[in-house]
Amino acid sequence: MRKLHTFHGGIHPDEHKLMSSTPPSARAPLPPRLILPLQQHIGVRAKTVVQAGDKVLKGQLLASSVGMLSAAIHAPTSGTVVSIEFQAVAHPSGLPELCILLKPDGEDRWIEHSGFDYRALPREELLTRLRDAGIVGLGGATFPTHVKLNNAQGIQTLILNGAECEPWITTDDRLMRERAAEIVQGIEVLRYLAQPAETLIGIEDNKPEAIAAMQQACNGSGIEVVVIPTLYPSGGEKQLIKILTGKEVPSGGRPLNIGVACSNVATACAIHRLVNHGEPMISRLITVTGNVKSPQNFEALIGTPIDELVQLAGGALPDSNGFIVGGPMMGLEVTNAQLPVVKGSNCIIVKSGKLFPAPPPALPCIRCTRCVQVCPAELQPQDLYWFAKAKNLGKAQSFHLFDCIECGACSYVCPSNIPLVQYYRFAKSQIWANERDKEAADLARERHEFQLMRIERDKQDKAEKLAQKEKAALAAKAAAAAKTQGEPDAGTGADAAAIDALRAQVREIARPVSEQPPEKSA
Ligand code: SF4
Ligand code: SF4
Repeated sequence: MRKLHTFHGGIHPDEHKLMSSTPPSARAPLPPRLILPLQQHIGVRAKTVVQAGDKVLKGQLLASSVGMLSAAIHAPTSGTVVSIEFQAVAHPSGLPELCILLKPDGEDRWIEHSGFDYRALPREELLTRLRDAGIVGLGGATFPTHVKLNNAQGIQTLILNGAECEPWITTDDRLMRERAAEIVQGIEVLRYLAQPAETLIGIEDNKPEAIAAMQQACNGSGIEVVVIPTLYPSGGEKQLIKILTGKEVPSGGRPLNIGVACSNVATACAIHRLVNHGEPMISRLITVTGNVKSPQNFEALIGTPIDELVQLAGGALPDSNGFIVGGPMMGLEVTNAQLPVVKGSNCIIVKSGKLFPAPPPALPCIRCTRCVQVCPAELQPQDLYWFAKAKNLGKAQSFHLFDCIECGACSYVCPSNIPLVQYYRFAKSQIWANERDKEAADLARERHEFQLMRIERDKQDKAEKLAQKEKAALAAKAAAAAKTQGEPDAGTGADAAAIDALRAQVREIARPVSEQPPEKSA
């Protein structure tokens, strides 16, 4: 039996999983419209390859990946591209995102597609196919899978994350119960790409049916299902690696640095759909729960508005007051029911004052260190809070702000009800904004210096040409003088004046830019 390790801290919030994990998942019908953000992944926004008015087929490429860190977007069904415009999306920044609006035609007609023998493909070609199919991590981070696997060849451990530790969310639980064999087929593709010495699936012990299903599907495959204790946030990448291997991902490092690659079970299932059916990532399983009549999991097309799915779960009850996209610990609170679900959306929770009472007003920090005791990243949350509040961003960074996984465990236990994670998110966004500003300023300075250098070079070129012209004029003058030797030269004074003027022109042009008078603005 595998020896399990522990990570620092962790909490046991109420699970609230049973109501949505009990009924089988259902396929959501076609919604009347789909909103497809071009930025659904970590990295560069995808580039549209369609225009408003285009008719598209299900699975057709709508936006291609740009550069290395990007992921393609495909049509979740057949229909017409209505427009490409900025729309509200569920994002912590609150900023709108460029989206493709698609009106389904109701026919759900596929583009020509088929599975393929991945073992017959060179590794690079298979990675390219993952990229072109828009496969990203479905555990929440939406990191493009082809990038993660690019340097993963020959690793020690491949870990499949089936922990699903956050309260209310049950998509991975239902997926493992219902599609265990498909998940294993996807894992085989990951194994082919990473060639790991061992492959482990970590599942929390509060999912006995999922554990049984995966154990059966993995039988004889060499993949080990490891049951881990239920403790939030054991599904965090670094925490799961620690539990299963005892290894620690270094601060600022990646799992690959210690010979480990992690992927979500839902991502493995999406890879199976691509390899065995030729289907790009156009749908996902999503939990709809909270203050609804019938919580359940739905296979929903990417781009489906929240409201459509809430209706399928029996609709929001009368005392509802908003939604959480994601889980209650790490998710995002929104009020707009028309926001679309994206590749990273694993859960929609309908809120009510009863289920999620408004927190009491925050009180001063009493330095009780409860937040320190539960922090899985072994940080000093109370110090990070002070630095973030005082906008002392340098100090926050030196206290490893970016090792914070925003799990919310510190806020959960804080007796002063301080919304600690909000302060950390704010500090991180400020640091990113400052870095962007600095990069923009550096670029502007470099451009200005290059422009000055170019003007200077042009001046010198012109001066050289005029000097040559002057030399030629003097030579011509000397030749003419030699020809008319002994004769009075009526034009000598005028020629000398012309040459003097030419020399003055050369001096003026050759003068450095810094010594020239400023240009008058128009
Ligand atoms: S738990 Fe809250 S009150 Fe206690 S030290 Fe942390 S921030 Fe301060
Ligand atoms: S949110 Fe960050 S600081 Fe707070 S417990 Fe989680 S990792 Fe630690």
